[in-house]
Amino acid sequence: YAKQRGKNRVERYQVRYDELLRRRGTLESELRHAIDREQLRLVFQPVVALPSMRPVGAEALLRWHHPTLGAVRPDEFIPVAEDSGLINRIGSWVLDNACKQLADWLAKGHDVWVSVNLSPKELHAADYAGQVADVLAEHGVPAQRLVLEVTEHAVATDMEELIGRLTELRATGVRIALDDFGAGYSSLGQLRTLPVDILKIDHALVAEPESRTGEAAPLVDVVVRLGHRLGLEVLAEGIGTPAQRAAVVEAGCRLGQGSLFGWGVPAEHLEAQLDGLRTGTRPVPQPRNEP
Ligand code: C2E
Ligand code: MG
Ligand code: MG
Ligand code: MG
Repeated sequence: YAKQRGKNRVERYQVRYDELLRRRGTLESELRHAIDREQLRLVFQPVVALPSMRPVGAEALLRWHHPTLGAVRPDEFIPVAEDSGLINRIGSWVLDNACKQLADWLAKGHDVWVSVNLSPKELHAADYAGQVADVLAEHGVPAQRLVLEVTEHAVATDMEELIGRLTELRATGVRIALDDFGAGYSSLGQLRTLPVDILKIDHALVAEPESRTGEAAPLVDVVVRLGHRLGLEVLAEGIGTPAQRAAVVEAGCRLGQGSLFGWGVPAEHLEAQLDGLRTGTRPVPQPRNEP
């Protein structure tokens, strides 16, 4: 009986694995056409200064809406894009569109920066820094207005190579953020040697239980101090409640992002928020649910 049950389990596993492979195959072949068929778009999640909650920037987040598959989350399709080599084309599309939007906001007088997520594969493409410089020039965007986010996963690869690439990028004038810090692999020693400007504290740390009370929670507290000690700007991600906001403020963090301030929204929504801020009609950003 036990043996039979074991066999069923193996079969079920096999079925699930086959399904997974099929799904990946479908995603890969559909993703190939996603740009041409205009299925990709960017949403922008506000980054706010703390404690004022004034928007100072936005993170561009990629969305893929497929006519029959529906909305596919980046956590699912970005790995597919990376494995299939599509990420370079998709990443160029993201960078181009994010810079276009940034140029538009700057032309309208908004004092903001935009950040873009980078896959390790893009970073290691030939002359990536040159490509970035070209896109900035094409849209007439000052380099300091662009932030490129790399994750800890990129850090798990060859450190020397990574430092070289980041140094080249920074030489163009863009700022580098280390994304999802505290979620995974990077060590404190790596933080010290990496040429980065902004440290983004992962939402898992921001959500540590102590921050429910609004007191500074121990890990966030230490990471904020560490970041500042190393001369970095520190941004807390995934702030979802007023208590969490109070906790990161208490820890001395001066930049925040999360559902409390707003999810990713189409550019025109964020622009309405920025306009409201400038004319004083809406001093505090309103949380919005991402569709
Ligand atoms: P990330 O760069 O760490 O982006 C933050 C993620 O957290 C986003 O998920 C965002 O919607 C979500 N988030 C924002 N506020 C909150 C909150 O208060 N609570 C919680 N629980 N989550 C919040 P999203 O858009 O699904 O993106 C997931 C990941 O996919 C991103 O993580 C990033 O690593 C990757 N990604 C997104 N767009 C791109 C892109 O254009 N290029 C590349 N290479 N990766 C991208
Ligand atoms: Mg990010
Ligand atoms: Mg993150
Ligand atoms: Mg992430």
